[in-house]
Amino acid sequence: MPPNDPSDSAETIDSCGFLSQFGKSTDVGEWHSPIPDGYQRGRTKFVVVIGTVMSGLGKGIFSSSLAKLLKDKGLSVAPIKMEGYLNIDSGTLNPYRHGEVFVLADGCETDMDLGTYERLLNQDLTRKNFITAGQIYTDILERERRGGYLGRDVQMIPHVTGAVKLRLRELAMTGNNGKPADIVFVEVGGTAGDYENGFYIEALRELAFEEGTDSTCFVALTYILEPSILGEQKSKAAQLGIKRLMEAGVQPHIVACRAKNPVVEKVMEKIGMFSNVPMRRIFSMHDRESVYAIPEAMRAAGLDREILSLLGLHDRVNAPMEDRERVSWLDFSRKLFQPRKHTIELAIAGKYAALRDAYASIDKAIEHCSIQLNCGVQVRWLDTTDLDSDAACDKALAAVDALIVPGGFGARGVEGKIRCIKSVRASRKPFLGICLGFQMAVIEFGRNALGYADANSSEFDPLTKHPLIGELPEQKKLEGILGGTMRLGAQDVILEPGSLASFLYGNKTEVRERFRHRYEVEPGAVGELTTKGLVFSGRHPKFKIMQVLELPQSTHPYFIGAQYHPELTSRPLVPQPLFMGLVAAAIAQKEPEFAQTELGRRWVRSAPKPVLA
Ligand code: GLN
Repeated sequence: MPPNDPSDSAETIDSCGFLSQFGKSTDVGEWHSPIPDGYQRGRTKFVVVIGTVMSGLGKGIFSSSLAKLLKDKGLSVAPIKMEGYLNIDSGTLNPYRHGEVFVLADGCETDMDLGTYERLLNQDLTRKNFITAGQIYTDILERERRGGYLGRDVQMIPHVTGAVKLRLRELAMTGNNGKPADIVFVEVGGTAGDYENGFYIEALRELAFEEGTDSTCFVALTYILEPSILGEQKSKAAQLGIKRLMEAGVQPHIVACRAKNPVVEKVMEKIGMFSNVPMRRIFSMHDRESVYAIPEAMRAAGLDREILSLLGLHDRVNAPMEDRERVSWLDFSRKLFQPRKHTIELAIAGKYAALRDAYASIDKAIEHCSIQLNCGVQVRWLDTTDLDSDAACDKALAAVDALIVPGGFGARGVEGKIRCIKSVRASRKPFLGICLGFQMAVIEFGRNALGYADANSSEFDPLTKHPLIGELPEQKKLEGILGGTMRLGAQDVILEPGSLASFLYGNKTEVRERFRHRYEVEPGAVGELTTKGLVFSGRHPKFKIMQVLELPQSTHPYFIGAQYHPELTSRPLVPQPLFMGLVAAAIAQKEPEFAQTELGRRWVRSAPKPVLA
């Protein structure tokens, strides 16, 4: 027997926090739904985005663009990504298969979509914004062992779905700022019809029912095929995909159609007709010059107002704030498309060079600087696995204006990275080393300035006599446990007053950045490296962990490395300082007069002494 409409029976929430029609939670009956203490049903609304036809359509981009539009109206939003896989987090996933691992300030290793949310919403997220099936099952199985379901068989429904709803309601109650969110944006990983995400879709269906009418808006993101042999758009795959969702008991309120070209009216009508969705709620999400154009396209199509009407949220809108935010966003998007005054060529040396998603945040951080500095940045991806001699590196870098050596794991391609760093240290081209790139800058310095030919990281050569990079002490105790055990998340960095790093951060001497590493500069080697001219300008406040390195500007105009990942905190309107410094230094080398402009004065610090010949 199904439950009655819970909206008319508040007393169904029992003392143990279960929404139960049939007995107490200790005797949980057939229907129950855990509710956090103090939860106010109907206060927070839910927008749920589910993919159909295929994955990889940009659910995260759709959801974050819509969330941004609503946030700009003064509503508080909290996104959540729900992954179907059994991993506890994304930390052990191969970036080559899944794209980069995005690290949150609290140390949670997540899917790259969380990066899209943070950037577009300009909002820090936490582990509450990310669920995997592995987390849900682990919670349930641990609870079962503690006797949490005594007397009951533990089932997908109601227990697994109940655990999902609990997580959603907990996020609704605290949002990302400790206050109830106006809207929780739920993105379900995968596609309707997958085995992995079926329990999420069921949980959301139940949630929508329990929360009552006007509480939940379902969006089906679908794909419109346009086979070149036919030369026209076909809606059948989309119809079948949406039908799959409807078979799971979910009626979409909005259909977003991904397509190469704008979706023609006839196709939209057909989709609307077969999925009971009026034309005004069908959105053509065709390819655009930039994803930044999507929020404005959604606004022009009236999608934001449809959401407000569906969820009864018009009275929470702050109109003056909306106007202000829109002006600044339009100003940003205009800059995006204007012809660039400067151009530079920037090499990124990594082993996943073939797959841009593996370096998504670096790509974005460069884009942010490109817009703010009015500089076209041509990125050249270098696969360092192939760079097996100094001459090959010099040749590969001859035409580039700057180099980034990004983070990474494993020995493949490392020697090529070290050679690339050697090349730019000698040629005085601006260089930014990130995490592994920072560590390899130390190794390069050890080999070529200290003369230790076998200098290495113990990650790659455990027997070297000169392990300038060694395992962090706490990591040595963790043999064999790889998930979630690195030094992760935001940490304080104390910057040397007067250093290049401090200059870039606006003369601050204390910043917070996000880390993800297992190895560090060997504390015993710091003295020798420093004596030979390497400057550790960023350190941990208490421990001898080196966090930023640089070369004095009397020897190199821009040579900087960070043990942390600066790319993770770059935002469209607030680009990350180390990237800004890199691009600005590259412009200034090509156009010295740039240093005298307003932007140049902010981002280029000229050498205190002339560069030695
Ligand atoms: N492999 C190195 C370490 O674990 C660098 C990690 C990284 O680049 N994220 O310390």
